[in-house]
Amino acid sequence: MTQSRARQTVAVANGIASDVAFGAVTPPLVLSTTFAFEGFERPRAFDYTRLGNPSRNLLADTIAKLEGGAGAVVVASGMAAVDLVLSTLGRDDLLIAPHDCYGGTYRLIAARRDKGHFRAAFVDQGDESALEEAFAQKPALVLVETPSNPLMRIVDVAALCTRAKAAGAQVAADNTFLSPALQQPIALGADFVIHSTTKYLNGHSDVVGGAVVTAARSDLDALASWANTAGLTGAPFDAYLTLRGIRTLFPRIEAQQRSAQRIAEYLHDHSKVGTVYYPGLPTHPGHAVAAVQQAGFGAMLSFTLKGGPEAARGFANAVRLFTLAESLGGIESLVAHPATMTHAAMGAEARKRAGIGDDLFRLSVGLEASDDLLADLDQALAAAG
Ligand code: PLP
Repeated sequence: MTQSRARQTVAVANGIASDVAFGAVTPPLVLSTTFAFEGFERPRAFDYTRLGNPSRNLLADTIAKLEGGAGAVVVASGMAAVDLVLSTLGRDDLLIAPHDCYGGTYRLIAARRDKGHFRAAFVDQGDESALEEAFAQKPALVLVETPSNPLMRIVDVAALCTRAKAAGAQVAADNTFLSPALQQPIALGADFVIHSTTKYLNGHSDVVGGAVVTAARSDLDALASWANTAGLTGAPFDAYLTLRGIRTLFPRIEAQQRSAQRIAEYLHDHSKVGTVYYPGLPTHPGHAVAAVQQAGFGAMLSFTLKGGPEAARGFANAVRLFTLAESLGGIESLVAHPATMTHAAMGAEARKRAGIGDDLFRLSVGLEASDDLLADLDQALAAAG
């Protein structure tokens, strides 16, 4: 059995038909906040849901198996997952973060840095001399987001991890854009994998959630303890829904990336489109690395639209099947304008440094028929003026 087939089976089958109370095939949702002790000083496997819950633990176990980690901590959002990893840093520790990361991640890191919780440098991880300078300062943690949001920049995770290990730093990889179906950062050397499970893992745009997977058991124990201490853990009902979403992760993302490739090629040839950012295009600077470290090119892409603010407004108002909305990774196709939406929190100066212009649109390609998606883009581009 190939590795990816084995993981697809984990996604579908982990926990199925394991219920001992009723023989329920679908693992039951356990909402109880508290669990009866068997007797004095004799707790059962669970005692209080903030610390542990059967539905949430099954989701954590499934995500950890998909990522090939020692275990996972399931938290209330992707941002809580990022913050949980940041909790490993002390006041004098240096974090190297991508200069073009998700806007919310950027805001969180900058806020904690400014409060003196740790030191942080936002670095273009594709710039060799900038990386060398940053590593010379002996970082404790390197955060990598590949493909990056929204420019789909690719970082060679294995090379970065080798370099980080040599410098004594841990590596955390945000795998939200690909999911474990298409990329497994722990196998490439990462210590932590971060997920906004809101996106591909749940896949249906009806749960906000997050998870951190660790490579080492000791890191898992530390993060699980902090998640309980600070009360970051996710709700059981959210975990139940997210696990239901994971059951179809592999066929969903497979179909979505097929459509994304078609759309990227269509946009690449369109006269009103400037640059298309999709790792599946041979013209993309990260294509060769992505082809090796990813099992597919994913279903996210961005492009610049010619014609200035009027054209941008016209296009955004003309799409019908694509919905103008934040977020990504669901079954429905979405279009976002990063400068005014997902990356507004970064501020204009940081956006400029990251190369995120006002002419940039980001697409999350869903499961609709690709002919219909192409027809929608075609009419919206025609209406863009
Ligand atoms: N990481 C990435 C790459 C994201 O795109 C997002 C949200 O868009 C997050 C983290 C934050 O996740 P959440 O919205 O679930 O808090």
